[in-house]
Amino acid sequence: MSATAVHLAPVVVPVSAAPIPDGGVAATDGVVVGVGPRTEVLGQFGQAEVLEWDGALIPGLVNAHTHLQYTSFAEVGSAPHAGYVAWSERFVTEYEGRRTEDWSATARHGVEMALSTGTTCFGDVVTDVEALDTLVATGVSGVAYLELIGVDQAAWEARVESWVESTLGSASRNDHAGVGLSPHAPYSVDEPVLEAASAKARRLGIRLHVHLAESDSEDSYYRTGTGALAERVTLRVGRPWSILAGGGTGLSAAEFAMSCGLLGSDSHVAHGVYLGREGRRLLREASTYVALCPRSNLTVGIDPPPVAAFLAEESLIAVGTDSLGSTTSLDLLEDVALLRRLAVEGGYERADLDRRLLHAATRGGAAALGLSDRLGSIDVGKRADMAVLAVDPDPHYIERRINEEGAGTCVATLVSGEVRWSR
Ligand SMILES: [Zn+2]
Repeated sequence: MSATAVHLAPVVVPVSAAPIPDGGVAATDGVVVGVGPRTEVLGQFGQAEVLEWDGALIPGLVNAHTHLQYTSFAEVGSAPHAGYVAWSERFVTEYEGRRTEDWSATARHGVEMALSTGTTCFGDVVTDVEALDTLVATGVSGVAYLELIGVDQAAWEARVESWVESTLGSASRNDHAGVGLSPHAPYSVDEPVLEAASAKARRLGIRLHVHLAESDSEDSYYRTGTGALAERVTLRVGRPWSILAGGGTGLSAAEFAMSCGLLGSDSHVAHGVYLGREGRRLLREASTYVALCPRSNLTVGIDPPPVAAFLAEESLIAVGTDSLGSTTSLDLLEDVALLRRLAVEGGYERADLDRRLLHAATRGGAAALGLSDRLGSIDVGKRADMAVLAVDPDPHYIERRINEEGAGTCVATLVSGEVRWSR
């Protein structure tokens, strides 16, 4: 017989429904089988083991953009840089100095750090294939995106395409942890490869992910093939990529990404700081989520994302920390707190602010990863991934409390109904 456990808390925040004071959640075999007022849940599952939590019970947080293998790069992410190109040079120096790193061990360490702050699901960009099985190996959820960077058409045709096919074909995956493909950014991979990689992902039935409009030099790169980023890429590659040689495309970042097949409901992008109103509209029309990573943006030395505009325009948003190479912790709620401050400063004053930000950090992230039917909220039939936050449980203000004060308050994290971490 399978064992059922009932988790009781002063407030349960399913995210898909209003907060439940004195709530309960029942889970059997790692799946939620009941959620509601504690008296109802206990009435229905009276024989179950009962765990009483002191705090707010919320869905496991979804970090929609990170690079777990860079968890050892804390020195790079510990202080602000002068700008994107300066940060990028520092990052590459760090990466090149770590040729012998055990990327698998570092990425697993990142999972444990994130679990201790309530995160149970990841959009993880994987540069080195040794870290590709991290999510499956640690039992957490998400999508591991194999990254392509610095690839031109000749390399794609000669070896990269078959390597992608065999690597993803043999990668570990299960119902909650899949694989995807991530051309790093539309400027760091040659245009024909962007198109080929998008088509390849669709043929394999896997998700896509790309960094987009993170740098303020990106727009001139795509439009005219000029600017600091164009110079940097040409220097690193040793010759201009095809669109630079052709003097740019006349397209914005979002238009160029769209033209290469990188946008769609099976894709999400990271950052989107410099999309502009038209770019954000294009992404909405393509049903493409944007993982906002505000702390990373400030560390890298660029502008913060225009959160108020994303919210007012009803853009599809999720939240990411990015890696410790550009932020100081993997606590997603620190980014949520910053997003809230930025939204208010940006003039977003609607009453739905806190509900929508918490949604972005849970259901929004799950949708961005194509997993919203399985996780992201506390609902019957979903995986019992949950976190307990030691915040004031007053149900009237709970979403605001979580967003403003939830960082650093996680006391327990459950994965598939099991207590995976507790303070
Ligand atoms: Zn990133």
